[in-house]
Amino acid sequence: MVMDPFETVSAVDPELADVLARELTRQNTTIQLIASENFTSPAVMAAQGTVLTNKYSEGYPGKRYYGGNSVVDDAEELARQRVCALFGADHANVQPHSGANANMGVYLALLEPGDKVMGMRLDQGGHLTHGSPVNFSGRLYDFVAYGVDEDTEVLDYDVIAQLARAERPKAIIAGATAYPRTIDFPAFRRIADEVGALLIVDAAHIAGLIAGGSHPSPVPYADVVTFTTHKTLRGPRGGAILCREQYAKAIDKAVFPGMQGGPLMHVIAAKAVCFHEAAQPAFAAYTDGIVRNARALAAALADEGFRIVSGGTDNHLMLVDLRPFDVTGKVAQEALDRAGITLNKNTIPNDPESPFVTSGLRIGTAAVTTAGMGEGEMAGIASLIARVLRATSDEQVAAEVREAAAQLCSKFVPYPG
Ligand SMILES: *Cc1c(COP(=O)(O)O)cnc(C)c1O
Repeated sequence: MVMDPFETVSAVDPELADVLARELTRQNTTIQLIASENFTSPAVMAAQGTVLTNKYSEGYPGKRYYGGNSVVDDAEELARQRVCALFGADHANVQPHSGANANMGVYLALLEPGDKVMGMRLDQGGHLTHGSPVNFSGRLYDFVAYGVDEDTEVLDYDVIAQLARAERPKAIIAGATAYPRTIDFPAFRRIADEVGALLIVDAAHIAGLIAGGSHPSPVPYADVVTFTTHKTLRGPRGGAILCREQYAKAIDKAVFPGMQGGPLMHVIAAKAVCFHEAAQPAFAAYTDGIVRNARALAAALADEGFRIVSGGTDNHLMLVDLRPFDVTGKVAQEALDRAGITLNKNTIPNDPESPFVTSGLRIGTAAVTTAGMGEGEMAGIASLIARVLRATSDEQVAAEVREAAAQLCSKFVPYPG
């Protein structure tokens, strides 16, 4: 059942097929540095384009509401068993449609509206689902935020412990969307134990690094771990939850029927493929490459005169302080986009600018590492970024860098043919 998706769509809908082709060209010819993105494998994409999309499977394997589920049950079982083996977890729920849904399921299972929860400040790396006032989390729960140290720009676990003693939260969320350093899960466990709180780890960004052994695992320390399957884990767009056996029933009930209807069985099948790929020895080499590339890129950007928040990175991403270049994150993101380099503006700790403008950039190396780039290419990318940001309104520079970026990408094409 090998079908070329472009040919197949093109035969029915040339207009949409043109959009697909243009996006493929964009991904193949410009440099992708968004820290939450990756290039998933042809096998993961193929699994999503199958007849499993047709099946209604409300419930869980062996306990479905509709008939005809004995085959897709095997797909969900494979995904559950593989992800438990990959991370050494007691129980897994692979049905959350996204990382945000995974978090919602956990809160619904373990918290009551109004409960106090500690999470990381959103302007210092926390996620919307960690208590943003515009998100369900901030509307339903009483979030108290911890941040990074003003001087070192890293988490200070003594200060977090003091805050926990004063606030006595029901749960503490560890994990971030823009934090470049290793997170100390044993320290978070000690704090949670001292104040009698649950420890929820949101490993959305670093799940792949954990699977590959490039970041310590939260699984032995956390009551529950949520993550996305599409960031460093390089799978289909989606979420998952790991938990200790004692929470399994509550978590499963919260995801369905608590929060979602029918699971996306084609995506769950693709998650199974992704967990299989992440269990191969090559995946550990891949995540090691991501971290080495991030270090190389951060060092090269520092050599160009940028200030790297916290002085470097331990994982797949870095935060770049643009103030030495006298340019905002918004201007930088737009100028780099015109020059064929895709990344996002991001607040830096104690950012004087608004979240829509920002003084920083967030840069990740998961996708370029998948494409096959190494430390030598990172130095080249740093110099392209610096060239653009020294002349953000120079269209000649943008055109030259766009050409150089396309040249570089032509040697590392994520989706050839
Ligand atoms: C990306 C992310 C999420 C949400 O994932 P979506 O799939 O976009 O809903 C949740 N938490 C953290 C820390 C993230 O980085």
